[in-house]
Amino acid sequence: MSELSSIIPAPVACEPGEGSFRFNQETCIATEPGLEKEAGVLAAWLSRVPGIERVKIVSGNSDNHKPLAIPSEPGSNKTATIRLSLESALCLKTTEAYVLEITPSSIQITAAEGAGIIRGAASLWQLVLGKSCEEGQRVSIQAGRIVDKPRFGWRGLMLDCARNFFRVEFIEKLLDLAAFHKLNVFHWHLTDDQAWRLDIPSRPELVEYGAFRKDQRYQGECKKGGYYSQSDVKRVIDYAQARHILVVPEIELPGHSIALFSSHPEFSCRGRADSSVHFEPEDRYGIFEDILCAGNDDVFTFFDNMLQEVYKMFPGPYIHMGGDEAPKDRWLECPACRERMQALGFASGDGRYFPEKLQAWFMGRISNLLVNHGKRMIGWDEVVDGGIGKDTIVMSWRGIEPGIHAAQCGYDVVMCPQTRACYLDHKHNDDPEEPGHLGVCTLKDSYLFEPVSEKLSDEKKHHILGGQANLWTELIYFGRQAEYMLFPRLCALSEVFWSPQEMRNFEDFSQRLRLHEHRLDTLDVSYYKGRFF
Ligand SMILES: [Zn+2]
Repeated sequence: MSELSSIIPAPVACEPGEGSFRFNQETCIATEPGLEKEAGVLAAWLSRVPGIERVKIVSGNSDNHKPLAIPSEPGSNKTATIRLSLESALCLKTTEAYVLEITPSSIQITAAEGAGIIRGAASLWQLVLGKSCEEGQRVSIQAGRIVDKPRFGWRGLMLDCARNFFRVEFIEKLLDLAAFHKLNVFHWHLTDDQAWRLDIPSRPELVEYGAFRKDQRYQGECKKGGYYSQSDVKRVIDYAQARHILVVPEIELPGHSIALFSSHPEFSCRGRADSSVHFEPEDRYGIFEDILCAGNDDVFTFFDNMLQEVYKMFPGPYIHMGGDEAPKDRWLECPACRERMQALGFASGDGRYFPEKLQAWFMGRISNLLVNHGKRMIGWDEVVDGGIGKDTIVMSWRGIEPGIHAAQCGYDVVMCPQTRACYLDHKHNDDPEEPGHLGVCTLKDSYLFEPVSEKLSDEKKHHILGGQANLWTELIYFGRQAEYMLFPRLCALSEVFWSPQEMRNFEDFSQRLRLHEHRLDTLDVSYYKGRFF
């Protein structure tokens, strides 16, 4: 295995060259205008590598990179410059493609856009982190050339921040680790039965009543939780943007809404009918019967207004609106919901109702709110069940079958099945002492997952946008535990999402992982070290 091919996810092509590039105390990053942010991220990444001193950034026109007057130190190359440059011709059909060229005197990262520069920078970060450096020695890496581009445009990581609150500092650590593995979407699960984490300026009651919950196991009065302020959200988005990671917020509805009912019980079927009904954020987990009332127009007015504040905070094109696990018991009992179903023709003359259709109508109405503001809705795969507009992006979580069905129907799909693939809250192996629940998903399971099923007809395959790792946190109370559940399965999935399918080889991956573990150690990641199958 050549040094260059040790990267995870595996690059499309790499060829070793002659000699090696040695970092010295004058090593700098020379960037052309417009790439200052990317240069800043690379400098921050390199500063975490033992044996590399602070790397300066030199900005200017691409013409005046070279004449940097740099004194040479004995035995080192003179300049040792890392150059970042844009070349619009270097498209390779994606803005994330890059070429990383390492010679004894310089390192050059070339891409059509900043996104490709960051992906190339991640490869460079891995190469230097993979070196074990003796005390006082300078880091050197083998010369060569990597030409690389992603297989899928959607390579996501979802973190459930509703079941457990994670501080912004931890989210930043994860964003760096996501970028390290060339992921490009951070799906931020912000609301659920257990908490409402997003502070909406005009609606302070949402976090006041929804962001903290009673710890049922604690005998005294003990509330746990937290929420993200406007400035927290901006900080996360800025951090992600600098690493060319898109942030997709998720606001769950019509189910998983108990924390919302804590401040607005009138939005539930029972709460609207009876003002004495009281809700508090759940400390239990599971699926709860109380969901948003589909017969109450105030619910839609509330979301229309609230979402306009969400659009201001999240500049990306997508908002995830949930749509999963919404039991229909309340809708069948609620006079307003029954009236709505009758008015919409979702009831038969003999007293039967079709609440699945009501859910599709509900999600469609929410989708229209987004579309009116130029946003596109994402939903869990249940949104397809009753029929919904084809502009909705479907996340296939109940297995791959719902995603195959949705793609065949013409929906764009992100594959994140819970079936031994993408649910990283499941155990690493079936040992009773392993943390995790609801199933087992080994490293090998994740690695062998294929997002594009052979069952899909060829003309529908382009509907598979990519895949995503999901980390639900009912049983995860600390960032360290989250790291243990995520790694190294996230490394495996990053290769599934980025590298060419024909290159996938579990034996080869396992070998590279040995070296990669050393990188994760240096980055202070608490990963699982048990058996992989
Ligand atoms: Zn109702």
